[in-house]
Amino acid sequence: MEIKRKPGFTVREVALATFWVETFGCQMNKSRSEHLAYQLQELGFYLAEGPEEADIFVFNTCAVREHAAERAMNIIVKFAQEKKEKNPDSIIVVCGCLGQLEREKLLGKDEKIDVLAGTHNWGKIPFLIKKAWQEKVKIVDFQEEAPSLYEERGYCHSSKISAYLPITFGCDNFCSYCVVPYTTGKERSKPGEIIKEELMNLAEEGFREVTLLGQNVNSYGRDRKEEAFEELLLDIEEWLGNKKIWVRFLTSHPRDFREKIVRIVKDSRVLCPYFHLPLQAGSNKILQLMKRGYTREDYLNKVNLIRQSIPSARIGTDIIVGFPGETDSDFQETLDIVRKAQFDVAYTYVYSPRPGTAAYLLEDDVPLPEKKERLHVLNDTLRNIYRGKLPSLQGKVMEILIDRKEGGLLSGRGANNLRVYLREPCSIEVGEWIEVVLTPGEGNKVYGSVKK
Ligand code: SAH
Ligand code: SF4
Repeated sequence: MEIKRKPGFTVREVALATFWVETFGCQMNKSRSEHLAYQLQELGFYLAEGPEEADIFVFNTCAVREHAAERAMNIIVKFAQEKKEKNPDSIIVVCGCLGQLEREKLLGKDEKIDVLAGTHNWGKIPFLIKKAWQEKVKIVDFQEEAPSLYEERGYCHSSKISAYLPITFGCDNFCSYCVVPYTTGKERSKPGEIIKEELMNLAEEGFREVTLLGQNVNSYGRDRKEEAFEELLLDIEEWLGNKKIWVRFLTSHPRDFREKIVRIVKDSRVLCPYFHLPLQAGSNKILQLMKRGYTREDYLNKVNLIRQSIPSARIGTDIIVGFPGETDSDFQETLDIVRKAQFDVAYTYVYSPRPGTAAYLLEDDVPLPEKKERLHVLNDTLRNIYRGKLPSLQGKVMEILIDRKEGGLLSGRGANNLRVYLREPCSIEVGEWIEVVLTPGEGNKVYGSVKK
């Protein structure tokens, strides 16, 4: 640990300082920020009203794609500069995956960062922040190895309705393009009794929906038992008894996604029929190079199983275009799966070589304009599929949980994660469930009118 003391040393009060956490990246990262915010409050800091007011500004970063990482770095440097000009006493903290992976770049980047840390020393970061705040010192602190056991307790949830609840940490899959195993370490599963306690507390506090999180939730408890995730789902169903609450889970790895999971969700009152199954690529050659552990045929079988068992289910995915060696015919196979799977939601990316990963050693041989063209064609195909499905929603009745009010317009999501906007003004509040009759409308939006 490197500590540089600033001139004019005085100890400052924790109780007078406020903080703000800005998160880049995935839901796991958002949840990690909620954990950090909880710990900072435990130490006596206050959550600021907004970013402008904060004395301590934390960036929890993401390193999955280079472009996003570079953008984040520029935002951080610019923000730090402006913040210090306005309030020279404020402190800037940079932590998370980018810190863990690209510390050298960050170290060279900016004098205005007061605390620079990673992910593997997560539990320590609040104490580093406290020290930096109280003693006006600069701190650089890293841990090379990830913790080997599950470590988090306590979250300061940013919504009163929907909560994230991580059930696994880290990832053992080492897909050849991905930095996540390096930034988050070996997979650790949260013990069932802790999940029970946390889930029951959330239900007691009135949360309406909980999303179980993990890089691959299907491998939850794999060190104990092959089907531990299925057991957990059945336990959850039992724990929540007759409570009205929705439970979702993200992300399902197609290799480990088993038939029994579909059956459990189909028969459940609380588990929601939205499945996020990242395809990544549609050709068996590329899937093998990516080390995904399934074939296009395996993938389509699982999608068909979901579609047949739960017709109202929605399926989401992630797709990468332009992986090394991806020919036009490989890409056509991706489009073919996309058409067959009829995805309801998709996050699409251009391949980004990441140092330290196995694919980094492969030649990044698809030219950027070609990658961009494939992304464009893929997004067009997905959009057409989405539009093609909209008319079939006309007149359907669906229960939705109202979770947003924007400019007086209420919206909510169904159990299958479909967002529905309410057109007419009504006396319904955020946090209520209502039944609506669906009408697809302009701009690909789905509208609902309250069922009489
Ligand atoms: N655990 C999840 C995904 C985590 S990362 C899973 O297994 O699917 C989120 C998404 O980012 C991935 O699904 C992938 O589509 C994308 N991604 C990860 N590494 C990438 C890279 N090097 N270039 C482009 N996209 C990438
Ligand atoms: Fe990355 Fe693969 Fe792990 Fe997902 S399963 S986080 S893509 S290594």
